[in-house]
Amino acid sequence: MSNPFKPGQPRLVYSAGYNTDLAAYGIDKPFALDRGELVLKKLEQDFGHAIPTLQPEPITDEEILLVHTASYLEALGKDRTWLDIFEFKDDEYKPVHESKLLWTMLDDIRIKSGGTKLACEIALDRQLAANLGGGYHHAFPDRGRGFCVIHDIAIALKVLLSENRIKRAMIIDLDFHQGDGSALIFKDDPNVFTLSVHSKEGWPEDKQQSDLDVEIGEHEADTYLMRTKGAVVHALDRFTPDLVVFVAGSDAYEKDVLPGTRFLNLPLETMWQRDKWVIDTCIDLGVPLAMVFAGGYGPDVWEVHFGAVKHLLIQSGERSSLSGFTQDK
Ligand SMILES: [Zn+2]
Repeated sequence: MSNPFKPGQPRLVYSAGYNTDLAAYGIDKPFALDRGELVLKKLEQDFGHAIPTLQPEPITDEEILLVHTASYLEALGKDRTWLDIFEFKDDEYKPVHESKLLWTMLDDIRIKSGGTKLACEIALDRQLAANLGGGYHHAFPDRGRGFCVIHDIAIALKVLLSENRIKRAMIIDLDFHQGDGSALIFKDDPNVFTLSVHSKEGWPEDKQQSDLDVEIGEHEADTYLMRTKGAVVHALDRFTPDLVVFVAGSDAYEKDVLPGTRFLNLPLETMWQRDKWVIDTCIDLGVPLAMVFAGGYGPDVWEVHFGAVKHLLIQSGERSSLSGFTQDK
């Protein structure tokens, strides 16, 4: 690792291509809207200067096939497959209004997934990095689920493992929903440790078995931080990774609007404390960390990611060009 905390080195991955124009596909649904642009704008405001980002390359078919079946990749060329993944209701999808065919959305997803791979590569070089998107942790090898089409994290890790650039990795998944795709894909892989802290209630009803699962019940929100920290400490005691992928879903936040996430309504301060603590824990251990956004629905959830990415930049040596700037938020 070369001088990991040199200020000014890009460690955020973003592309204008992340801003998927759902209306162009005829979609009107409160998806995980693209939060990267909002986060980046607010960071630039707060730091008082442009924040350098790196543009990812789209993930290739060859890379997708390290995780997914050939028949599934082929099926992604048909609109019907996409309708199954997104489970549109009532007025949420109106093909008559689309100017782009649904299946061509794969182009955008390839770029965002390439962003996760690039963030992992930057983290290996510079300790800390974030993809301002990605985190499709529900995708299974043979089908997409829960808004997740291809499993960007698994693809990135399989690429790095196959190229011998890492030997062991850990996924720390703190999204509201269980990281069930990750659990399934790596269940027989001793080199990838999957940790998921998630809501006991809600989707997915049939959960998979991660290496370590912690379920938080609807009335246990006051134990969330303590149990999350306990789980991460326990996992890192048992397993020493060369790289952590931090799946920093914001859908347990009280302002998340997805009806299915109503069981956890954590305040912003708790979400920020959670994400800062994970980042600081990996720094203390000297383990490279790549963050991805994962779930988060509605107009306000970007605030969670903003706090986390700002902390990541401050810990990386990024300084404000504004006078009177305080770095404790
Ligand atoms: Zn989620």
